[in-house]
Amino acid sequence: MNVKGPELNTVDVRRALPRARLRILETTDLHMQLLAYDYFGDHADAHTGLIHLADQIETLRSGPDDTALLFDNGDFIQGNPLADYIATNGTGGQTHPMVAALNTLAYDAVALGNHEFNYGLPFLENALKDACFPIICANIAQRHGAPIAQPFVILERDLPCDDGMTRRLKIGVTGFVPPQITIWDQSILDGALETDDIIASAQKVIPLIKAAGADIIVALCHSGIGATDHIVYMENAAVPLAAVAGIDVILSGHTHEVFPGDSRSPCHAVDPDRGTLHGKPAVMAGFYGNYLGIIDLQLAHDSDGWQVMAHSVRLQEGAAMDTRSPLQQTLTDQVQAAHLATLAHIRQPIARTEVAIHSYFATIAPDLTQQLLAQAQQNGIAAAMADTAHHDLPILSATAPFRFGGRAGPGHFIDIPPGTVALRDAAAIYPFANKLCAIRRSGSDIRNWLERAASHFRQITPGRHDQPLIDQHHPAYNCDTLFGLTYEFDLTQPARFGPDGSIHNPDASRLRNLCYQGKPVACDDAFIVATNGYRTNGGGGFQGVPKIDILYTSVETTRDVLVAYLRALDTVAQPATPTWQFTPIPNTGAVFQSAPAAKHHLPHGITHVGPDTDGFDCYLITF
Ligand code: MN
Ligand code: MG
Repeated sequence: MNVKGPELNTVDVRRALPRARLRILETTDLHMQLLAYDYFGDHADAHTGLIHLADQIETLRSGPDDTALLFDNGDFIQGNPLADYIATNGTGGQTHPMVAALNTLAYDAVALGNHEFNYGLPFLENALKDACFPIICANIAQRHGAPIAQPFVILERDLPCDDGMTRRLKIGVTGFVPPQITIWDQSILDGALETDDIIASAQKVIPLIKAAGADIIVALCHSGIGATDHIVYMENAAVPLAAVAGIDVILSGHTHEVFPGDSRSPCHAVDPDRGTLHGKPAVMAGFYGNYLGIIDLQLAHDSDGWQVMAHSVRLQEGAAMDTRSPLQQTLTDQVQAAHLATLAHIRQPIARTEVAIHSYFATIAPDLTQQLLAQAQQNGIAAAMADTAHHDLPILSATAPFRFGGRAGPGHFIDIPPGTVALRDAAAIYPFANKLCAIRRSGSDIRNWLERAASHFRQITPGRHDQPLIDQHHPAYNCDTLFGLTYEFDLTQPARFGPDGSIHNPDASRLRNLCYQGKPVACDDAFIVATNGYRTNGGGGFQGVPKIDILYTSVETTRDVLVAYLRALDTVAQPATPTWQFTPIPNTGAVFQSAPAAKHHLPHGITHVGPDTDGFDCYLITF
């Protein structure tokens, strides 16, 4: 069917057609954030939680003439210590709390995200067995057993029309997940799943949905608003997906952004003001329940069926609450036992620290959170390699920060004061369920790895101080530090890599003075790098590692390795060791954001400027 924008005036005969409204509500990337609680920081967090959206959802679908459909777009079952606690300890025979919440709110359909697969298929199957909603994914196929998801569903709703009649609308709902799940979760999925390209799958499934009688088609796309041109197996395929004929509405997710919004520049295919992709309504509702996505469609019925005549797209923030509504109380009760058990678990002390451990300057200055993780990884790999043919290769350790402010806000940092280090602190340093890997890399592989990390920064103009330091298109979680080496980044040079890992400037180089034990690293030097399975398999748009160079994958998770290391260490006594720095640039500085509390932990060369936007403060680094 044709999608027509509100600016396209309809001919008079159409004005007389009966009209009806359909409202579509989206949550996405909830990551087990049911309650307004930050388990990593162990404090309430009024900006997150499905609970904050619950009453708005009820209000938005309760109008007498409103027909509303509520969808979740995936990444609902993993992502915080509550999720990990349930994955490890089970639910004692109860319905998984997230599934219970989605049941309580009567979701009409739910898509699978990539993180649904982190704990393996048996866990997911078990969690979803109590779901009262269809689970949708069109681009996965299981090798064995009953499918966990269906490629599409047809929902039928009787719409009250403005001529007093009621007419039936059949809504086809399909869903897509990044095909990379079989790579990212290779070790746990072990070949049980196959994935297909999002666009190729859409082209196959849309005719089937049409043949099943759908009047309109909604795509639950757990994939971001990325490049406009289709590349086979692309991770963020929402824009080319919107170009597929037959799809009328796109719900996007996975990248934790908001759309509509000004973070995306407009182009022929993307209208970030109106919220359209290829002219079709599209929404992405952030993450952790911080926003609800709302698409209102005006439909007209003629002899050909239903037409979308107009659409509007908006986001609504979760509402803070003083007292709990009955619905919020029900949602709280359903998760309370697991919530309390999680709190008791994460508050266990595992070590002590004599110095503050924080991530306020995670990509800008030597970072103790990553250094501790790096040492844990390096120890784990040294033990694993001891009796192998590779025992004499130098072991480096690659880490990235995961709590660095950014889109998650100024509360999203690690800040452990001197005193007890608890299990939740290890979860904050490494929030994922990945395994530890040892990979063999050459000196030139290492150079590319660090050039990719250095692309996180903007090119700096000498002689200025008011320029931004960070390139927001290059998230900090792709700015890896390689421990075991010393090096500098010269930011007067352009970046070699683009945000997706493609090479933008093949001749550009920011890396200077790369040394191992004081000696320059040659291109054909060989190293072992301790890293995680996600990076090993090319996660984040990094170069994947050939199988022959993957020397070891741990049985335990990287976080288990970190916890064991901190328990054995007992006391963190030293601040971070400087292993890398920016190349000095005379009379030059740049500004960046960090939390207001970062001013109590200023590293050498960084000064506090003052309050900035979105609750952050502004800081100045002098090169
Ligand atoms: Mn997510
Ligand atoms: Mg995702």
